[in-house]
Amino acid sequence: MAQKVQPFWQRKSLGDMSREEWESLCDGCGRCCLQKLQDEEDDQVYYTRVVCRYMTENCRCSVYETRNEKVPTCVWLKPEDVENFFWLPNTCAYRLISEGKALDWWHPLVSGDPETVHSAGISVRGKTVSDGDLPEEQWEEQIINWCSE
Ligand code: SF4
Ligand code: SF4
Repeated sequence: MAQKVQPFWQRKSLGDMSREEWESLCDGCGRCCLQKLQDEEDDQVYYTRVVCRYMTENCRCSVYETRNEKVPTCVWLKPEDVENFFWLPNTCAYRLISEGKALDWWHPLVSGDPETVHSAGISVRGKTVSDGDLPEEQWEEQIINWCSE
């Protein structure tokens, strides 16, 4: 009998993944594109519902290839930065894998359906306000807790 082969995210470390595998690990939730505020005293990171102006309604980046030119603070996740992934939402596949945890049922790689990240309520779709529409002084009033629950 043939042995079942484990999917790549279960048998490979982040650093061993191909570019294609690495990219497919992103669930498309858009949570990392939410604006964050950091407490100066204890460095705690707070997520807000204010999202980068370049995010589309379907939680995709509209300037993906030039994102670092358009938004210098846009974070480009790389395997070598794995130790810094603690600030990512606790549902983020890169964070989960870096912590040795499993992907949830709604992850498109597990469900086989890119819509499940939305239907399960994980993505930011329909929950945000654009940073182009709200001055930074008002972001603190938009702090949310569903990225750290
Ligand atoms: S939080 Fe993680 S899984 Fe979600 S869009 Fe960002 S990088 Fe992808
Ligand atoms: S530039 Fe694109 S990837 Fe970067 S924060 Fe904005 S929407 Fe997200």
